[in-house]
Amino acid sequence: MLNLLASHLHLVYDADMNENGKMKEILRVKGFRVTSARLAVLETLSKSRVPLDVGAIYKKFSKIKKLKKINEATVYRTITSLEEGGVLKRVDLRKTSSYFELAAARHHHHIVCINCNDIEDFENPEVEKALGRVVGRSAKFKSVHEHSLELFGLCKVCS
Ligand SMILES: [Zn+2]
Ligand SMILES: [Zn+2]
Repeated sequence: MLNLLASHLHLVYDADMNENGKMKEILRVKGFRVTSARLAVLETLSKSRVPLDVGAIYKKFSKIKKLKKINEATVYRTITSLEEGGVLKRVDLRKTSSYFELAAARHHHHIVCINCNDIEDFENPEVEKALGRVVGRSAKFKSVHEHSLELFGLCKVCS
C-alpha cells in the first residue's frame, strides 16, 4: 500500500527515483514511518526554491489529484511533527506564519523583500568566515553550534 502511494506520488511529481528515495531515507533515518503526507511535504519543500508556509504547501496539494484529500490540519500536524523530529527547519522570515525548509538542505541564507515577500537564497563563503570569527572575540561564549541569517530589503521589481 505504501509502495503504491509512493509510486503515485512519484508519477505526480515527476521526480526521479533518486529524489523519492532520498526523501524516504531522510524519514527513515529520523525514525519516521513513510506516509504519503510526509513524503508529499518533503518532496514539495525539496522542489521549492524558497521556504514555504503551511498555507502554501496546502495550496500545492490541493492542485494535485492524489493529494487533494490531505486536509490543511493534516498538513499542519505533519509539518509540526517533522520539525520536532529534525527533518524540517523553521525559518524566521518575520511574517505572521512560520516558514519551513528541509533541515538537510545545503547551508544557505535568505534575502526577503519586505514589499512583495519574494525570497532569494544565498551562500557566501566570506560571510561564513566572518561569522566563524565572531565567537573567538566573544567574552562570554566558547562555541557556536549553528547560525541563521536573514536579510530584509527590497527586490529589484519593488525598488
Ligand atoms: Zn519585491
Ligand atoms: Zn551561514
